[in-house]
Amino acid sequence: MTTPQIWFLTGSQDLYGPETLQQVAEQSQRVAATLDGAAAVPVEVVWKPVLKDSAAIRAAMGAANEDATCIGVVTWMHTFSPAKMWIAGLDALRKPLLHLHTQADAALPWATIDMDFMNLNQAAHGDREFGFALTRLKVPRTTVSGHASNPAVQARVGGWARAALGVAEARTLKLARFGDNMRNVAVTEGDKVEAELRVGVSVNTYGVNDLVDVVAQVTDAQIDALVAEYLDSYVVAEDLRPGGDRHDSVREAARIEAGLRAFLVDGGFRAFTSNFEDLGALRQLPGLAVQRLMADGYGFGGEGDWKTSALLRILKVVGGDRPGGTSFMEDYTYDLSAETPKILGAHMLEVCPSIAGEKPKLEVHPLSIGGREDPARLVFTAASAPGVVVGWADLGDRFRWVANEIDVVQPTEALPKLPVAHAVWEPKPDFATSTEGWLTAGAPHHTVLSTQVTTDELTVLAEAFSTELVVIDEATTRRGLAQELRWSAAYHRLANGV
Ligand code: MN
Repeated sequence: MTTPQIWFLTGSQDLYGPETLQQVAEQSQRVAATLDGAAAVPVEVVWKPVLKDSAAIRAAMGAANEDATCIGVVTWMHTFSPAKMWIAGLDALRKPLLHLHTQADAALPWATIDMDFMNLNQAAHGDREFGFALTRLKVPRTTVSGHASNPAVQARVGGWARAALGVAEARTLKLARFGDNMRNVAVTEGDKVEAELRVGVSVNTYGVNDLVDVVAQVTDAQIDALVAEYLDSYVVAEDLRPGGDRHDSVREAARIEAGLRAFLVDGGFRAFTSNFEDLGALRQLPGLAVQRLMADGYGFGGEGDWKTSALLRILKVVGGDRPGGTSFMEDYTYDLSAETPKILGAHMLEVCPSIAGEKPKLEVHPLSIGGREDPARLVFTAASAPGVVVGWADLGDRFRWVANEIDVVQPTEALPKLPVAHAVWEPKPDFATSTEGWLTAGAPHHTVLSTQVTTDELTVLAEAFSTELVVIDEATTRRGLAQELRWSAAYHRLANGV
């Protein structure tokens, strides 16, 4: 694997002469190196030679489009770079763009400033010309202002780079569905052609017995190895251990995991769905297998929910190695008695252990729906942390993402009878405004819950995919949200053209 790169493109023009352009090159290399060295920026920042004319700009953007290691470009107009030179290049660019509005040195040397200094350090001027061109050409971008050494600037560039990694992932994402959606469910439906065009994810269905065939080829040695890993990683009750009465249930879960993993690896899939209504000859609903695959970075959606599965994979890439976790989630039930009401989320089985606040327990229980053998699953409570839940709805004429900022908290009391992994959270700005807004926006019951990804990063993704993002956060009011949904509907109808 090659390290993903951001290309640092500096704009200028020939008018300045070789001496000044040499200074522009040196100073822009310094800015790029500062960002490259910042811990908050998780990718390589690669400086490219200063761009001085239309042909070079067009060539740089074409190269960025075609280079698989380049996930986006940062542009900075160190000096005045007449923006008509940028039209062809910006029009061709198909990767995320960050417009960095900065200058080489933070402080002005007031006592020595002469016109040479003014002509060299004129990003205040050059970036305005460039910003106009971006707006005129309707180029989606993120604008970040401030000195490259400023930690807040580095954090924002880093967040954008993480989102750009998510965009790059989406553009090559292959998703396998085993069976179709759950019968009669509306919100998990959607337009797969539109998803591939806008987001990039390619969604294709396989008969579940294609998976069953692979599961049948799993060897005892593969199962032994996985069981050893389970015993090492989780709290496992005596009767589920080798020799125990119910150990066979764990071995069957391991068989399903090995088969499912092989199917996904062989096909190059990084996301998948299952449907408890369509299990073919599988003896258990995949629970433990799905949880462990999510922990390894795979996207997943239950009941054929490919939109949530794709979103989970993309947000796992954005979250990367940050503390916290990112999981498939479903809103289940409420505690309305508390002064601050709480949402209890879970799923039939499939919650990702990356959000666990404790060592998960491996358990086997009957499943109330599905009519198969008792499936193995990991049971845990999610760790407390600020986070976000994100849902993806298909409104018919467009996609809508809805994000709600939340605080994951601990359950008010222990949940000794709940046989599935779960998370408890308090939505912002408050329970009523959040849930009323969520319902008004038509957002789904399946979500991605992340304590790794920020609203700013979701905004970059939504811009890159030309997709609506409705944010419910501390600043949301009922009336404001109702207005936003109305204006947003009109905007997206117009933006999509005829
Ligand atoms: Mn569900």
